[in-house]
Amino acid sequence: MTTMDTILIVNAGSSSVKFQVFAVDGDGRLRRRIKGQVDGIGSRPHLRATGSSGEKLAERVYPIESVGDVPAALQVAADWLRDEQRITPLAVGHRVVHGGPDYDRPVLIDHSVVGRLERYAALAPLHQPHNLAPIRALLEKFPSLPQVACFDTAFHRHHDDIADFYAIPCQLHEDGVRRYGFHGLSYEYIATTLPKVAPDIATGRVIVAHLGSGASMCALLGGRSIESTMGFTALDGLPMGTRPGQIDPGVLLYLISVKGMAPAELQNFLYRDCGLKGLSGISNDMRELQTSKEPEAAFAVEYFAYRVALSAGMLAAALQGVDAFVFTAGIGENSDGIRARIADRLGWLGVALDPSENHRHSLRISRPDTTPVYVVPTDEELMIAQHTLSLLWSQRPSHPARGRAS
Ligand code: AMP
Repeated sequence: MTTMDTILIVNAGSSSVKFQVFAVDGDGRLRRRIKGQVDGIGSRPHLRATGSSGEKLAERVYPIESVGDVPAALQVAADWLRDEQRITPLAVGHRVVHGGPDYDRPVLIDHSVVGRLERYAALAPLHQPHNLAPIRALLEKFPSLPQVACFDTAFHRHHDDIADFYAIPCQLHEDGVRRYGFHGLSYEYIATTLPKVAPDIATGRVIVAHLGSGASMCALLGGRSIESTMGFTALDGLPMGTRPGQIDPGVLLYLISVKGMAPAELQNFLYRDCGLKGLSGISNDMRELQTSKEPEAAFAVEYFAYRVALSAGMLAAALQGVDAFVFTAGIGENSDGIRARIADRLGWLGVALDPSENHRHSLRISRPDTTPVYVVPTDEELMIAQHTLSLLWSQRPSHPARGRAS
């Protein structure tokens, strides 16, 4: 392969398509070249892209009628990449939220895979159709372009049954009502990075907290996921920007039977109006809450830290002890204040942060001789690029190298 070979990563949602381009060096190293997104689909379409040093490459608005849906948004990005950046990718890696009960690893896409993934749309109706729309469009237009689906659920697919079941009639488990867990690409990235950045803990019992606008935690045992705070959907577990996290199903019955909420209204409520936003009445953004003087904001921040600490207790029980903690994602990587609040509640697990290392966002932020606590920036797109390259090369058995990050 030449240095100009590239892999395109696509993360398609309902109103935006995020994309990244990685260059593939001759030795299989992946270098991020472009980050971009087309947002405002169907409202005010907007392409933004930056280069590897954060320099602006594109910022432009499109007429609403030219970008009416997700495939059209990807087309805008692909046209810009081809015409102005001279990029024609070797392969496309897609983030797909749901791999259902079966997919425990990324898969090379063909029509039968798409058919199977369409069946899982019922398990993630807000995300799966948007993830699949650009895949289908590319498959029609460029049938020989290799496409790889990387799932948020796959990394958790080896959980024991005891972690995978709900206490409901087993037929529903057969129907797919299971505790899947999400953010799997982030946890997999952390699990594959720990041997390099923190080899002393990589084989141990590690609780990883992916704290972003979506938030969850994962119990890693020897680099494998054994438990997650998320379940059937990405609504469960920790409170998030706009999602409630763990909630008694009786509350939902109350909202339906007493408050008269219709299913679509309830879905909207649970995905968009709850969590930090609902609790504070101020914002879903942790930065805004931390700078706000309102007591409701302070309560939401403390509530978040409390629920993370409660979940750490649950995951510690799953692991039968904890050797280390890892913080990642927007809040976990950037907020020393939240990390400190959480750590204050985990003293009973041997946690004590070094305030200056925490303030500096160092790799290791715990005091010596306490339970190690790390901050490891996640990189789900790089994980997808690595999987895509590996699958691409597995189709060409003569090539010895595998994708590595630089
Ligand atoms: P993510 O979804 O991983 O991009 O994370 C988004 C969340 O991270 C939002 O709630 C942001 O407010 C939060 N975040 C980003 N930077 C900071 C920061 N410096 N302090 C607190 N929260 C932050």
